[in-house]
Amino acid sequence: MKILLVEDEERLASFIRKGMSAEGYEVEIAYDGRTGLSLFRRDIYDIILLDVNLPQMNGFELCRIIRSENEAVPVLMLTALDSMADKSDGFNAGADDYLAKPFEFQELLLRLRALTRRNSGSGQKSILRLADLELNLDAKTVARAGKRIDLTTREYALMEYLMLNKGKIISRVDISERVWSLNFDSSTNVIDVYISYLRKKIDKGFSPKLLHTIVGMGYVLRED
Ligand code: CA
Repeated sequence: MKILLVEDEERLASFIRKGMSAEGYEVEIAYDGRTGLSLFRRDIYDIILLDVNLPQMNGFELCRIIRSENEAVPVLMLTALDSMADKSDGFNAGADDYLAKPFEFQELLLRLRALTRRNSGSGQKSILRLADLELNLDAKTVARAGKRIDLTTREYALMEYLMLNKGKIISRVDISERVWSLNFDSSTNVIDVYISYLRKKIDKGFSPKLLHTIVGMGYVLRED
């Protein structure tokens, strides 16, 4: 489980990282909003923890951009300001939850666990869309142009992973770690084979093409 923490108070950030590491989470820290955004665009996180008052770009702005690029990743806002106005700004920016400083580490941990569990839960977020392609996280179904597409369990897992990260280039290593097991033999071409199965099912006979190969880098699901 990988966490992106955007927090300019270094002591608080390292306190959170220490606690989360002890719980088995991997934490990357950005000390300002702009660095937070570039980390978010470069890597894949299971949850994002965002301070509100940040140098360069505040937490609300950053949250809005993250949400416009990834509708599924849970965002938990951390702030010293506990006013209603702030809360609603946070929710309007697309945050999933809100935690006022100072907080107990245990509470942060509970909220974080609830959010990562809820990530594939009900509500509008359970449907991910790209052009006329739809993926339902609850029912684990995929449809294109309203037509149901039958996928095997592995194809679905790959599809879900690509869809949760649409617009991002996903490497074979990312895919092998998230969709296959960690001791997956990366010298085989099984990922390429599954990509070609998926391409046949979701792109063949449809326009625009959505699943692209980026030579030397990996794959990306996007409209272009
Ligand atoms: Ca701050």
